[in-house]
Amino acid sequence: MADEHVQVLVVGAGLAGLSAALFLAQQGIEVLAVSKHRGTSPHPKATGQTHRTMELLRRAGVADEVLAGGAGLDGGLVIKIAESLRGRVFHTIVQEDHEWDASLSPERPGMASQDHVEPVLLRRARELGAQVVFETELVSLAQDDDGVTARLRSAGGERTVRAEYVIGADGHRGVVRSFAGIGRRGHGPLSHHVGVVFDADLSARIASDKLTLFYLRNPAFTGAFVATNTERRNVLTIEYDPARESVADYPLRRCAELVRIATDAPDLEPEIVEVTAWEMGAWLSDRFRAGRVFLAGDAAKVTPPTGGLGGNTAIGDGFDLAWKLAEVLKGEAGEGLLDSYEAERRPYAQLVVDGSYANYVQRFAPHLAGPDVPDEVDHLHLTLGYRCRSSAVLIEDTDPAPMENPADPTGRPGFRAPHVVVDHDGTQKSTLDLFTTWTLLTLNPAWRVPTPGLDIPTITDPTDTLAKRYGIGPTGATLVRPDGVIAWRTTTSPTPTSTIPLPALKSL
Ligand SMILES: Cc1cc2nc3c(=O)[nH]c(=O)nc-3n(C[C@H](O)[C@H](O)[C@H](O)COP(=O)(O)OP(=O)(O)OC[C@H]3O[C@@H](n4cnc5c(N)ncnc54)[C@H](O)[C@@H]3O)c2cc1C
Repeated sequence: MADEHVQVLVVGAGLAGLSAALFLAQQGIEVLAVSKHRGTSPHPKATGQTHRTMELLRRAGVADEVLAGGAGLDGGLVIKIAESLRGRVFHTIVQEDHEWDASLSPERPGMASQDHVEPVLLRRARELGAQVVFETELVSLAQDDDGVTARLRSAGGERTVRAEYVIGADGHRGVVRSFAGIGRRGHGPLSHHVGVVFDADLSARIASDKLTLFYLRNPAFTGAFVATNTERRNVLTIEYDPARESVADYPLRRCAELVRIATDAPDLEPEIVEVTAWEMGAWLSDRFRAGRVFLAGDAAKVTPPTGGLGGNTAIGDGFDLAWKLAEVLKGEAGEGLLDSYEAERRPYAQLVVDGSYANYVQRFAPHLAGPDVPDEVDHLHLTLGYRCRSSAVLIEDTDPAPMENPADPTGRPGFRAPHVVVDHDGTQKSTLDLFTTWTLLTLNPAWRVPTPGLDIPTITDPTDTLAKRYGIGPTGATLVRPDGVIAWRTTTSPTPTSTIPLPALKSL
């Protein structure tokens, strides 16, 4: 007999776990998230939110707060491979002022770091009714046909929790994956790093309003420097060989000296905030689901940070699982909808890992260059132009391309529904704000036939772009899922025998 019952137990309260908890709670699902850590991450780690992540945070009602957290770095992006901040530059990867194409999304990319984002997600998740408990470790997990039993350990002792579903959002070294019997493969560990978080005034060396990332190839060390959205706070990572050294070989004095070398500031007295060891790796789990247990975030895949997508994918996984589990738990969709999680998110994770690995070789490890290095992946095409393929979309063309250019959308099923400003009930808004449930978007009144489980908003197209960007013309209609992905479309007016394939898409 379990001590407690919940609908969903989330193991982990990082970006994946907190997002899953938040979006489940937003749907009225009873959710408990546990983390063995004392609180949210004190480390800046993942900096930067893609348009898509910001669109998800907009749904959660926290986009402005996250954006404000990164406002200090609003001026643009600088990524270079160099000897040091003022030393020889080997390659400029990006140097741009922060301009964004407002026709792509109602949200601009964010620049906040993980230590800012996690507390925002935590507060909002709790506000929406999620239980989030720290200093509580999962020690065992067993599932049967009806549910999952988890044993949790905290200072107060051990207790068991019975859940209908479990989300393993327990990170790179998480245990849920092995309890679920899921293996993983990939390039494995790539390199070991000491991460030095330090405070120093570097305003004379870097543009303080830009996200500055330098991959450093210095005679003294290989590593990276990154500024954060917290004033004066920066991170220096230093690659080390675990066969010869450990983090204990990096006392404060040595770290401070390496900071001086990296920043070309011989007199700098940095205040070292934290020194930790971390491993860069590239892994993809063989499966993202085993029965009632799902993997999300770094538990499902580990990507080198060279691409800035680890944290973004964690939030995306949490969101994706949450809406699908909520539909099933509320009886609005069949169990089959849950299969679409792995079908859609695992190929996406593969692209993230491949593209980030290609960047890793270019930026950190040119000696690994060779024919087995995957192609680089276009960031914008991946994050806004990825095509979902599963039983929850009806793809009718034969184009195998995994992505398209979101600036030139085709509106085909599987792709993210494009952002278009429409007039809805006398208010101008983004189409993205209409997709809170399954939604039929049309300019043709003949399609506006009330259908259970389907929202058909009355809209007009003041900019005359909807019909083209969605490829439905004036007569057709497009069915958009609650996550803003196009599930089905037609270009014609309804006939007496027309049906909207909603039950099939929901696996009912
Ligand atoms: C130095 C560094 C820099 C990075 N830079 C970037 C970047 O620029 N952009 C980017 O997008 N990503 C970046 N990343 C990656 C990003 O930080 C991770 O992808 C992200 O943290 C993954 O989130 P997660 O929620 O999946 O896992 P984690 O953040 O690792 O969270 C795991 C959670 O699981 C909990 N947990 C683990 N085991 C148990 C257990 N047995 N019981 C209970 N709880 C458990 C932990 O307490 C924690 O709450 C970086 C990572 C590092 C280390």
